[in-house]
Amino acid sequence: MKKVVKFGGSSLASAEQFRKAADIIHADKERRYVVPSAPGKRFTEDAKVTDMLYGCYHLAEAGENYSKELKEIEARYQEIIDGLGLSLSLKDEFKVIDKQFKEKAGENYAASRGEYLNSIIMAAFLGYEFIDAAQVIRFDENGDFDAETTNQMLRERLKDMEHAVIPGFYGAYADGRVKTFSRGGSDITGAIVARAVKADVYENWTDVSGFLIADPRIIDNPEAIETITYRELRELSYMGAGVFHEDAIFPVRREGIPINIRNTNKPEDAGTWIVESTCQKSRYVITGIAGKKGFCSVNIEKAMMNSEIGFGRKVLQAFEDYGISFEHVPSGIDTMTVFVHQDEFIDKEQKVVSAIHRLADPDCVDIESDLALIAVVGRGMKSTRGTAGRIFSALAHANVNVKMIDQGSSELNVIIGVADDDFEDAIKAIYDIFVLSQL
Ligand code: ASP
Repeated sequence: MKKVVKFGGSSLASAEQFRKAADIIHADKERRYVVPSAPGKRFTEDAKVTDMLYGCYHLAEAGENYSKELKEIEARYQEIIDGLGLSLSLKDEFKVIDKQFKEKAGENYAASRGEYLNSIIMAAFLGYEFIDAAQVIRFDENGDFDAETTNQMLRERLKDMEHAVIPGFYGAYADGRVKTFSRGGSDITGAIVARAVKADVYENWTDVSGFLIADPRIIDNPEAIETITYRELRELSYMGAGVFHEDAIFPVRREGIPINIRNTNKPEDAGTWIVESTCQKSRYVITGIAGKKGFCSVNIEKAMMNSEIGFGRKVLQAFEDYGISFEHVPSGIDTMTVFVHQDEFIDKEQKVVSAIHRLADPDCVDIESDLALIAVVGRGMKSTRGTAGRIFSALAHANVNVKMIDQGSSELNVIIGVADDDFEDAIKAIYDIFVLSQL
């Protein structure tokens, strides 16, 4: 068995956290390939090293003095090295970074140094070989991740290596210039490494005991989800539930490698399993609830709309012409509603409305703002009667007015539109009825 283990920023923010990670790695000899993030926050008001690097580089780029900021970053690493009792020195590395900053090597290079340096420390602490991600993770000339070239290079490089530490978050173009993934991208590197070595499990170590059923800022101590499918996860992540970078799913999904989200501070917790498919029933009918505020709905009315072929296309054309993507389009007999992100839409609303009038000739167009969408997701809904009924009676009891309902044909989720102000109450009511009342 082979496991790839990725540790997030808060799991590697201090020497103490490094020790926990090393204990976890040593506790299971199958944990062979390690992908570290940059040091994250040690306490709530602390700064992430990645953000410090961006800030420092922006000063360098503007020709301002950045030596104090760079020293602060160096001090973060030195504190970890000292705390671990290592004799390692990063002095020469910082000289190179300083020189590269002066030569304006770019913010991608700057940000990548967070993972690069943390991985050098991790490799020294574990006594494993360090592999610079710039040598094995490849981007093509358009800046897109080159999955196949990377897979070959990584597989070749790791084939005879028992252990290795590979920094997360970045790779390089063929000419060696460094390029990062989007923020939180170390998750993606972990998945890429898992694919290359055909790992049995991709363990993703973070600071929560898995994917939670609902947002802990709304629900006190929500339970963790035991098992979730990739599809369910996609629905929840799309609605803002974030523990894991969405793009990290693809490399492991194609190889059928399960992901296990674990808590570095509570290694005894089983965490959440993310799998292709499972016959395990989730403990509750629903797997998770997530949602987002800040939508608005554009309601279009036209008598006899149902018999006018092409009406929907004309309406959506108006949105497309102004580069606005739509989220949901529930429709009635003579009405059609288009849900869009308010902040994307607000500046263009009058243009879009007049385009709708021009293209589709409706009777009237009405806009409602400050709406929230909530997704109730669960593979168990398909085989359970009365789920929708329970959701809506819970919402009615909580005095929440439902403005939109959309159930996908996969029966994997129900999307509910409510006023922004009702958002928290609605989530509490749904959590109560499906989770708390089942305990
Ligand atoms: N350090 C990077 C970030 O803060 C990448 C990561 O942690 O996954 O976004």
